[in-house]
Amino acid sequence: MPTSICPECDEEVYVDAEIEQGDRVSCEECHADLVVVGLDPIELDVREDAEDSLSDDDDYDSHDYEDNRF
Ligand SMILES: [Zn+2]
Repeated sequence: MPTSICPECDEEVYVDAEIEQGDRVSCEECHADLVVVGLDPIELDVREDAEDSLSDDDDYDSHDYEDNRF
């Protein structure tokens, strides 16, 4: 089984022998989401496009009551 090096924790990551560029793997050591960016040798990069969990900014809406003092 071929291996590569995790860019996040520098540990060996086992990849499938039939892996192709653009495939995703995850590091067993630090559980980082990795993507194959090169095949000879196998190179891995960290996936950083995690836009799913950053959309709770409704704390900014409740501060416009200071004008109503009179
Ligand atoms: Zn890792």
